[in-house]
Amino acid sequence: MSRSYHLDGHLPADHLLSPQAAFARLPFHVRQFTDYSPLDLWETDTRRLPRSLARLRRRARDFADRVLAPAAMELDLAPHLPAGEVHPLVADILVRAGREGFLSYFLPAPIGSMPPDRAFHSPVWQSCLVIEEFSRVCGGLMLLLSAHHLGCMPLVLSGSPRLILGQLRPIYRSCLNGDPHLVAFAITEPDAGSDVEDGHGAARYKPGLVASPVPGGFRLNGRKQFISGGDICRSLTVFAALEGEGMESWTCFHVDSRSPGFRVIRTELKMGMRASGAAELEFSDVFVPADRVVGKLRGGWAINRATLNFSRIPVASMGVGFAEAATRIAAEFACSYELGGKTLVNYQDVQLHLATMLAETRALRSLVWQEARHAWRPRQLMASGCKFHATDRAQHICEMAMDLLAGHGSLHEARIEKLFRDLRLTRIFEGTNQINRLAVIEDWQDSLMNMVPSDSQGPGNSGA
Ligand SMILES: Cc1cc2nc3c(=O)[nH]c(=O)nc-3n(C[C@H](O)[C@H](O)[C@H](O)COP(=O)(O)OP(=O)(O)OC[C@H]3O[C@@H](n4cnc5c(N)ncnc54)[C@H](O)[C@@H]3O)c2cc1C
Repeated sequence: MSRSYHLDGHLPADHLLSPQAAFARLPFHVRQFTDYSPLDLWETDTRRLPRSLARLRRRARDFADRVLAPAAMELDLAPHLPAGEVHPLVADILVRAGREGFLSYFLPAPIGSMPPDRAFHSPVWQSCLVIEEFSRVCGGLMLLLSAHHLGCMPLVLSGSPRLILGQLRPIYRSCLNGDPHLVAFAITEPDAGSDVEDGHGAARYKPGLVASPVPGGFRLNGRKQFISGGDICRSLTVFAALEGEGMESWTCFHVDSRSPGFRVIRTELKMGMRASGAAELEFSDVFVPADRVVGKLRGGWAINRATLNFSRIPVASMGVGFAEAATRIAAEFACSYELGGKTLVNYQDVQLHLATMLAETRALRSLVWQEARHAWRPRQLMASGCKFHATDRAQHICEMAMDLLAGHGSLHEARIEKLFRDLRLTRIFEGTNQINRLAVIEDWQDSLMNMVPSDSQGPGNSGA
């Protein structure tokens, strides 16, 4: 049956001049080169993925809708808990995520839970698909679950079978058995956010967490700040400088959070992603056995930078998930809100607004999937460029939704104000978007230097 309803300024689908009616009159074989199927866009994108990734995307969406979405708004409004207390909804979600393999999918079975047919695709791409779906329903729960993969990444990147089989595999097993062992990633210090993510700043920085060699291992002293999941993790990958040395001595340690001397000072009352705790951590003579050094002594800076290259494309996918949700919220509002005797979507400037949001969201997804597809060896220029662009543009798309919802958008139940607060944080963590722009230039600088004209009388020098 043909549809006869239509929006103002457009023809109904059964009108002779509509593309659907025109294409329907084409010969069968010519029609094969046209597409006006009513298939939903999410479904269209999913079908374009390799089969194993399409399955993962469907599973992630199902988990997000079934488990995360029902808890999202309640956790956003829940009172800020003292360090050490876990909201029962969070505890339940962690168990379910662990059992369903969402805390162990970064490595193939039998170490992790990635099925063999997915092992042919970049784990970064897999992570992007999951994170996009989780972000779509709740930024806080997404961060709660994905910060764990960031924490595990140094163990993966150590490339050490001893660490992967001896430390990471038991972590993954525990998660799969319904006893979630979360791992946090700790680089930020009270005096250093960007300085531990950017070589230029690090070269001048005096380390705030120091490891002193003692018989059998090291003792750690100092603090870390803003550590996602630091309040509930069972272990952490922590970066510290060796006593008396600078940042070039940074070494990664896998620390048990039950170690004497380790203390969660507090979790921050932050603007968004409130289901995930950002903790300040104190290390007072925390003993770490020598076999829990991750990678080489003084090899921590490389592991840190490599981890960030792996994680920044997934952070970009958070932007895609938020942009998708903002576009949907705006479209639902436009289709239901009455103004001046007609539904908002019938105003053509509103249609232009929605079309821009849709196209921008799809452009971001194309960028992220394109970079993620090839990210077996993620390169800094691509990872950082993707991170700052996707999260900056997602914020713009979110603002477009807020423009459309106007006063209604300021209400908690409209969901867009939560999304706005959650999304804003993606432009700060994993390096501020300014630092990520500098990371692009850092990687690009050799090529940039080669662009200096050989006669050195280029435009930049013309006034000299
Ligand atoms: C929700 C959340 C979760 C987080 N989770 C974690 C985590 O799990 N683990 C972890 O280790 N950290 C985490 N962080 C910390 C985060 O990575 C840092 O906040 C971030 O790197 C910025 O550091 P900063 O806040 O100290 O800002 P600063 O580094 O002090 O920056 C202040 C300003 O100076 C600018 N700036 C700095 N250097 C330069 C420069 N060279 N040139 C120009 N401008 C510059 C910055 O862009 C910014 O505008 C988290 C933060 C948040 C908000």
